[in-house]
Amino acid sequence: MGRVFVAGSINMDVVATADRHPKVGETVAGRQVLYFPGGKGANQAVAAARLGAGTTLIGRLGKDSFGAELKAFLRDQGIDLGYLQESAEAHTGTAIITVAETDNTIVVIPGTNALVGADDVNVVPLVQGDVAVSQFEIPLPAIAAFFRRARAAEATTLLNPAPAQRFSRELLALVDVLVLNETELGLLASVELSEDDDAVRIVDAARQLQANQDQTLCVTLGKRGVLALAGHEEFFVPGRVVKAVDTTGAGDCFVGALAAQFARGAALRDALAFANAAASISVQRMGAGPSMPTAAEVAAVVK
Ligand code: ATP
Repeated sequence: MGRVFVAGSINMDVVATADRHPKVGETVAGRQVLYFPGGKGANQAVAAARLGAGTTLIGRLGKDSFGAELKAFLRDQGIDLGYLQESAEAHTGTAIITVAETDNTIVVIPGTNALVGADDVNVVPLVQGDVAVSQFEIPLPAIAAFFRRARAAEATTLLNPAPAQRFSRELLALVDVLVLNETELGLLASVELSEDDDAVRIVDAARQLQANQDQTLCVTLGKRGVLALAGHEEFFVPGRVVKAVDTTGAGDCFVGALAAQFARGAALRDALAFANAAASISVQRMGAGPSMPTAAEVAAVVK
């Protein structure tokens, strides 16, 4: 059985709730301040670890109190932190989130996440059967170095190009499995996609993006489920009908679950069904990291 190695961001999400958002230059009294472990890298590692995969997180924290808290949280999840660096040059990545009524505003300060470089990933002991996972909240040269190392070790590379930004064909060619939502697909394939676009248009856009026939593309469709292309084959797994209370981190749960399944050697169709079920459980709970399900919880709903 392989391990999941995630190279990615780690943030403290600081959430302030208020009755309304302040206008520019105004101060309003808030109701509550909440602290949640976050960052796509950390969320995906938590999902994979809770689902039973041996998981290593590669990233950077600051030498500050958020860094210490996040480290303790990640260690409690059973994640290997042997390749996590602590940097004095910047603060731990922080997201300042204001929630008022149903809207939110977010300011993300990348902090130490921006310092992750090729040196951080070049020491990682990847072997055949492992899965190397990354997203776009750390510098792209570090991701390319990580995937080159994974390719050399015959590990599987899985990229979640979020938050969406254009990237080079060279990096795309290093990716075995690309997992993205419709917005990211629309941007990267330069196609206007709306939330309720039909499967034909989504498949067309995905085919345009697919670097080669060996590459697998998984397009997550929110409550509608997931559509995937692998070689000439197409797969569709419908979303499970559940009562969603908070979809934050659904995509991260899906990615972590898919990586955990690939590390076990699961076939694509089974891995998709499992990840779809895992993510449908996460949307029924508040938060990102804390909403990730266990393997037993997913097994209870996957036939
Ligand atoms: P986010 O940015 O909120 O983390 P995302 O846009 O990256 O999410 P989505 O496509 O919204 O990703 O969701 C990922 C997966 O989560 C879906 O493919 C599906 O399996 C599951 N999911 C999301 N929303 C729902 C829902 N309302 N009901 C059931 N399953 C859901």
